[in-house]
Amino acid sequence: MASAQPPYIVFGSPYIGQEEVDAVIATMRSGWMGTGPRTNEFETKFAKYVGAKYAVAVNSCTAALHVSMLASGVGAGDEVITTPLTFAATANVIVHAGATPVFADINRETQSIDPAEIRRKITKKTKAIIAVHLLGRPVDLDAIHAIAREHNLLVIEDAAHAIETSYHGKKVGSISPLTCFSFYVTKNMTSVEGGMITTNDEKLAGLMRTYSLHGLSRDAWSRFSDKGYKHYEVVLPGFKYNMTDLQASIGLCQLERVPGWLKVRDVLWERYNKAFADLPVFAPAKDEPNTVHARHLYTPLLDIDNMTIGRDEVMGELHKRGIGSGVHYRALHLHEYYRKTWGYEPDDFPNARWVSDRTLSLPFSAKLSEEEIVRIIDTFRDVVGGARRKGSAGKPATTAARS
Ligand SMILES: *Cc1c(COP(=O)(O)O)cnc(C)c1O
Repeated sequence: MASAQPPYIVFGSPYIGQEEVDAVIATMRSGWMGTGPRTNEFETKFAKYVGAKYAVAVNSCTAALHVSMLASGVGAGDEVITTPLTFAATANVIVHAGATPVFADINRETQSIDPAEIRRKITKKTKAIIAVHLLGRPVDLDAIHAIAREHNLLVIEDAAHAIETSYHGKKVGSISPLTCFSFYVTKNMTSVEGGMITTNDEKLAGLMRTYSLHGLSRDAWSRFSDKGYKHYEVVLPGFKYNMTDLQASIGLCQLERVPGWLKVRDVLWERYNKAFADLPVFAPAKDEPNTVHARHLYTPLLDIDNMTIGRDEVMGELHKRGIGSGVHYRALHLHEYYRKTWGYEPDDFPNARWVSDRTLSLPFSAKLSEEEIVRIIDTFRDVVGGARRKGSAGKPATTAARS
């Protein structure tokens, strides 16, 4: 009799505890589910957590990035530089703001945007840089800020992977003028959908609040509160990007869990590194000194030149054996829209393409059970180890082999 296949391990499935369930029910029963006191509390606690003066809650990181563009005055005729190895939203918002997305290639080792490549892409029209902390590893902010100062550019951080990230002793969210976080279901903490922008600039914070709620003046969410009805003024054509108290009530519970979860993923990171050391994969880059890596994604790069199958076949095989995986990311310049509309060619960013062809994300959540971790390790070892090309060297993972 064939034994039943154990349950499928879904990639990026979030942990939701009884506290989250209770908080949602309490908020529903409170009579106030829209933007209100819970959202306020989430903003205050999140600002404190990252060490920023202000935090503005919105309904996604995409919204956060969009209003960041608008509040910093990015618009038609401007160019914004970012990495091609990121989620589509990072570059899409540049287009939403009416500006031109300009990609700069990555460093193969860190997988983050290469400051030297940023320099090569600066023109008279360059207005801002969106710096992405890919996988939770901090991007080289010192170099990027130096370039920004020299050319009078704005730095906006896409910290969707970087809730726990610190750079040279400072928490991400407290460093650049604007930092955008995501609470999408697969991120290190979730509010189902949600985002946050942190800043130390009071004027920017106010402007982003206005942009994220129809362009209404003052605290328009409180216009129906027990303090009586207040008129509002529409001061600009804003968007409908506000977070709800239902979402904030989940976010508040999850924020408490963030430090403990990071410790669990730190241990799993080392365990995966050890377990895959003899496979034809490039291990994740070593941590930068004096930084905290948020350990958002564990992404071994397959040494496909020494394997009999490609990345997509490896993912297909893992899927057949009950293990979900992801790709972070297929580089944006390879996608139809960016090729057709902005004229990018596959060879424009060789490093981003190199990583894009080889990267794969394994389930990497603090929620995984010991049994599940063992299954992931054994299955990945079996699939990738079994696909090693005969006669190829056992161990490709040197920096020299990457560049
Ligand atoms: C998830 C993600 C976003 C978008 O976040 P949403 O909250 O889903 O809008 C933006 N940038 C990066 C790098 C992401 O991973």
